[in-house]
Amino acid sequence: MRNGAHGEGRTLPVRSCVQCGVSGDKGSLLRIAGRPERGWEPDPEGKRPGRGIYLCRKAECIEGFMRRVRTPKGGARWRMGPGGAVLADRLAAWWAVEAEKQGE
Ligand SMILES: [Zn+2]
Repeated sequence: MRNGAHGEGRTLPVRSCVQCGVSGDKGSLLRIAGRPERGWEPDPEGKRPGRGIYLCRKAECIEGFMRRVRTPKGGARWRMGPGGAVLADRLAAWWAVEAEKQGE
């Protein structure tokens, strides 16, 4: 019998945080789902269609990202336009609940 590697036949999709660049598997990062022309929203379950933007589930990265997409220049990377500010509001609402859960 060989050591280790048992059950490691498939590779988990790895994503990296757009704020700090740390990589993790899909489940450990928060996904933001959307399309440039249709708007963006937090997708903690990772099930929504569209492109994904990934962030660490921690205040540093989430708050940094919110500040970034509220500015036209920050949102331009994903062609968010006014949708960047809308996303920042949605993310702030989601994060307020999530931070409360984490603080328990
Ligand atoms: Zn991060």
